[in-house]
Amino acid sequence: MFCKECGKKMWGRSDKRFCSSDCRSAYHNRHRREEMLTLRKLEANLLRNFRLLRKVRKEGVSQMSRGAFERMGFDFSFYTHSMQGVRNEQIFFCYDMPYMLEEDTVVFLTAMSLTARLLPIESFMR
Ligand SMILES: [Zn+2]
Repeated sequence: MFCKECGKKMWGRSDKRFCSSDCRSAYHNRHRREEMLTLRKLEANLLRNFRLLRKVRKEGVSQMSRGAFERMGFDFSFYTHSMQGVRNEQIFFCYDMPYMLEEDTVVFLTAMSLTARLLPIESFMR
């Protein structure tokens, strides 16, 4: 058996993973650092996307070509979650900023147009 951190040979209980508490903390600290770094990079990408969505919305832009939005710096591989609309359309979110893709066009949704896509028409008539 070998220590997971320093690789030193160990004897004793077969479930032992580290030769010392120093090795155990060194291992866990390094993993936590790597995890934080990954999260920070992800967060930076999401934040850039969020700001771009907020900017176009503030300017009253309702849609734009996918390529033009990418040239502004938007990266379509980063979003926080997605939902399916009543017409089976996929609605993407970057935090609270919803948008959709219609072929090569990105459509920026407002709170009102989002609600209309998530609830069937009948629910407005009740
Ligand atoms: Zn060790």
